[in-house]
Amino acid sequence: MIHLTRKGTRRWRGGHPWIFRTDVAQVAPTVVGGDLSVVLGHDGRALGVAAWSDRSEIAVRGTPIRSDEEPEAGWTRLVDEALDRRAGRPPCARLINGDSDGLPGLIVDRYGPGLSLQTLTQAADRRTEALIAHLCARFSPTTVVLRNDPKVRAHEGLPTEKRVVRGEPEVEASIGSLTLRFDLLEGQKTGGFLDQTDNRLAAASFLRGEVLDCFCYDGGFGLQLARAGADVTCVDSSGPALARLQANAARNALTVQTEEANVFDLLRAFERDGRAFDGVVLDPPAFAKSRKSADAGRRAYKEINLRALKLLRPGGRLVTCSCSAHMARADFERVVAEAAADAGRWVRVVERRGAAPDHPTLLGAPETDYLKTLFVEVS
Ligand code: SAH
Repeated sequence: MIHLTRKGTRRWRGGHPWIFRTDVAQVAPTVVGGDLSVVLGHDGRALGVAAWSDRSEIAVRGTPIRSDEEPEAGWTRLVDEALDRRAGRPPCARLINGDSDGLPGLIVDRYGPGLSLQTLTQAADRRTEALIAHLCARFSPTTVVLRNDPKVRAHEGLPTEKRVVRGEPEVEASIGSLTLRFDLLEGQKTGGFLDQTDNRLAAASFLRGEVLDCFCYDGGFGLQLARAGADVTCVDSSGPALARLQANAARNALTVQTEEANVFDLLRAFERDGRAFDGVVLDPPAFAKSRKSADAGRRAYKEINLRALKLLRPGGRLVTCSCSAHMARADFERVVAEAAADAGRWVRVVERRGAAPDHPTLLGAPETDYLKTLFVEVS
């Protein structure tokens, strides 16, 4: 049993699944790190079932496991329900999205025949072996990789490691009409950024003509744009990412120009040289990684949006993203509005988008709605 304080009880009832250690009044000595335990409010009433961490400041993470259900059976039920909900998704998709699926800290991404897993809490970590057996029985993957390299695992007292559990780390899988190669061991996150899948396909029908894909990584946006007939220049500071992009372009008989550069410098240089584009994609890394870096982050977002807007021809289109959990949607939109005002451009938002539906969010935990994407027309 985990007993919450009055404050913890209020937070739980408010719908946020994370309860801090300071809001825990008492924990039964039989409850150990990684256990699924019944949670009681300050008045002794049962609130639900949560995963317990004996290390993290976020000590309690609520789940939808029912109080009258055997907790392990509840966890397995939630795994199966999450997998069932993805039945209609394409072969590259997130199968389990942590807290949003009621499985705190558990991430499972599918790249065609490959599965890539992350366990970021003690509860998820302890159930890894059973989960892998379950996933193998259900999907018969040729490749299974454990991507437990995120530093957040240290908060849970868990070591970081990257490991191939089965098969070869490189797999081929299709996204839209492209066949792409992913490196599940060395690629970013679990091998790529699946949260943008639907936005990339939508961007491919939104943008046309000469398009600049900034922070392109391995070409998630750029290759879909090229497939749709755009004349694409992709920019990233990572040479290896651009090499992968070119290999994937060749695999699909596409021609894409790549520039290894700092986007901030390149946008200024393009402006100086009088370059112009019909479309720009801005999908940078999280500039506001924490509350402390929020102001610097805001300035960085404003800078790239301002420069990108200046490069657009009249009638041009911008796809601009922020994946900073510490920047709310309204904040991000204000920054883009300020950039438009400073650039002297009239902008119309035609679509507000977020992460793909296989990355659901929790209304009670706004930070799970981290990915904000605007589709904008510019006069
Ligand atoms: N748009 C990509 C994901 C981008 S991830 C996709 O659709 O998959 C962010 C990328 O920005 C990384 O590849 C990183 O190498 C690159 N990056 C970070 N800072 C940069 C900078 N200042 N200039 C150019 N690239 C940068």
